[in-house]
Amino acid sequence: MTIYNFSAGPAVLPKEVLQQAQAEMLNWHDSGMSVMEMSHRGREFMGIAAQAEADLRELMGIPANYKVLFLQGGASQQFAMIPMNLLRGKTSADYLNTGEWSKKAISEAKKYGAVNVVASSADKNFSYVPDFSEWKCDKDAAYLHITPNETIGGVEFDWLPDTAGVPLVADMSSNILSRPIDVSKYGLIYAGAQKNIGPAGLTIVIVREDLIGEVLAGTPTMLDYKTHADNDSMYNTPPTYGIYIAGLVFQLLKKNGGIAAMEQTNIAKAALLYAAIDESCGFYNCPVATDNRSRMNIPFTLKDASQDGDFVKQAEARGLLQLKGHRSVGGMRASIYNAMPLAGVQALVDFMNEFARDNG
Ligand SMILES: *Cc1c(COP(=O)(O)O)cnc(C)c1O
Repeated sequence: MTIYNFSAGPAVLPKEVLQQAQAEMLNWHDSGMSVMEMSHRGREFMGIAAQAEADLRELMGIPANYKVLFLQGGASQQFAMIPMNLLRGKTSADYLNTGEWSKKAISEAKKYGAVNVVASSADKNFSYVPDFSEWKCDKDAAYLHITPNETIGGVEFDWLPDTAGVPLVADMSSNILSRPIDVSKYGLIYAGAQKNIGPAGLTIVIVREDLIGEVLAGTPTMLDYKTHADNDSMYNTPPTYGIYIAGLVFQLLKKNGGIAAMEQTNIAKAALLYAAIDESCGFYNCPVATDNRSRMNIPFTLKDASQDGDFVKQAEARGLLQLKGHRSVGGMRASIYNAMPLAGVQALVDFMNEFARDNG
């Protein structure tokens, strides 16, 4: 039976990447070592890290005046590092509140400065993105923080606010590499690796150089971007195996036509699943506003919530794993990141149609 894993994170990785890692596990490129056993300062691993960075730069079109940092601590640690590093003498930062991850970023930032919430979709249980005309931005804000894809709520937006020169900071943990973006429009982009990049334990930060170097007093060395920027992310031991796997994912993306090609597949996958929900005559329902529906995380409820348990159990029996929704939304959530093939979404849709027929 083919297994399809719809986990929100840590999430499915491309089979080709896992197979290559397996083949190279004991002896990487005739080095006689596993990547896990290599010194991070040795020739072999330095090469792996440099290649991973070069491939990511090429894939995303990252301009030369941006640093790419391979860090640890997850996206959650960035919730603190961002204000510590980017307040830069200012007292307040702007945040858009579109869901659970925005809320966490906001509450952490409040420890370091004032937070101006420019707009919030809390009034409708975070099921939409407030129109930019309603945002109350502060032109003196140190930066403006957005979460372009709310992993839990399944809310995504691709348009960029006009920040009038205020650096834009984006938590792209769950949609990085899923669609082309213009990196030059951002001051800082960050992402935990475990959704669309590689294994948990690696966090990627892409930051414009002029924003580095002016931290709050008392900032620990390890939480200063400058520490990592000045040392090519090798100030201390980086998450070496995670960087290696991420590098294999980047190579595969490049081989398959890059992010533009990936986006086309992602559009097709999401369209297939949303159509199954919308054409179920109300058996399934997606709570998210049509314009803001995520291509990566698709929450849906059953009309009769007492059937949730059966749905999950029968899905598992068919090899469709980890579909139970987040407790704050309920129902189901299918995360269909880059590594989820179209065939996996088709298998889910076939099962959903059958389940609705048998239980409707
Ligand atoms: C998963 C996730 C996080 C938290 O990531 P960690 O690496 O577990 O800290 C933050 N933001 C978004 C949008 C996420 O999807």
